[in-house]
Amino acid sequence: MANRRMFSKKITESARFLKMPSETQALYFHLGMSADDDGVVEAFTIMRLLGATEDSLKILVAKDFVRVLNDDLVTHIIDWNEHNLIRADRKIDSIYKDLLLEVVPEIELLEPKSRKDNEIRNKLYKESSLPDKFMGTIRSLFHGEYCPVCSIEMVQGTNTKPSVQHNKPLSKGGKHDLDNISVICLSCNMSIKNKETSTLNNIEVKKKWKEFSEDSTRTARGQHRVGKDRVGKVSLVEDKLEIKSLSLETSFSESLLNDFIAYRKELKKPIKTARALKAFTNQLLEIQTANIDINYAIDTMKNNEWQTVKLEWIQKHKIDRSNQLPVGANVFDMIDEDY
Ligand SMILES: [Zn+2]
Repeated sequence: MANRRMFSKKITESARFLKMPSETQALYFHLGMSADDDGVVEAFTIMRLLGATEDSLKILVAKDFVRVLNDDLVTHIIDWNEHNLIRADRKIDSIYKDLLLEVVPEIELLEPKSRKDNEIRNKLYKESSLPDKFMGTIRSLFHGEYCPVCSIEMVQGTNTKPSVQHNKPLSKGGKHDLDNISVICLSCNMSIKNKETSTLNNIEVKKKWKEFSEDSTRTARGQHRVGKDRVGKVSLVEDKLEIKSLSLETSFSESLLNDFIAYRKELKKPIKTARALKAFTNQLLEIQTANIDINYAIDTMKNNEWQTVKLEWIQKHKIDRSNQLPVGANVFDMIDEDY
């Protein structure tokens, strides 16, 4: 039985849910914590443990949060798939699977993937000409794009994060290569299961991967690479403009920006958002406002593995270098932010 479970705010912050008595809500959470991978739970045991009344369970049934499958109060959580995305290769079928299918014949249950499927997949990954970093890279390249199946925006760290879909499933003879790959949202990926799909956004996958590879080649030749796999092109242009407005020399500023991105990558602390870059340029602005020699400040950051300088550092050097009183701390509130 799993030790951890997820709950979706879409359900638990709905008016339908919040209007129920607290005891009923608590029962729902406990049922969710104890449910098996198909969302089935022996409610009688949980109600005993909690001291919850049968009325609470009746409310959950009346409000369509659960359905009771038999007289022993074996219960199914209706929104189970909204709460939990369970990996097919770890999934264990409910011991009540037959009962569940009898009561709810139309239900779509996740099919567990066999170990054999995993072995096939690992073998195909090894044989593939795509590098190991392909999966992670292509997923991040599609952050913010739209799922070709359901048209939802794919957002990393959510149920709709970009995920790799083999158009012809590996278990059915598909290959792990560029001609057979689309990027779709995780939610769609899990409901498509082992079905074969059309080419979906395969053309864009190839295009993005080609651009990314060409970019990497340029870096290898010693030119600057912009962190395109994480940061959108457009935002980067804006941030460059921002840096230029520091009244620094343009060439110096651009190489500075690129150095910063490259350093953070090497540190395995890549810049993830345009906002982070903006914070960096903002700090340069603060330093400039404090009349600190910008080259000196940048050297200090470089020597410190591109950590930002601290407020105290700015205050100390402001006094040292300009003989002025330190400015108020609130001006520098963003400085300790981990970007
Ligand atoms: Zn989708």
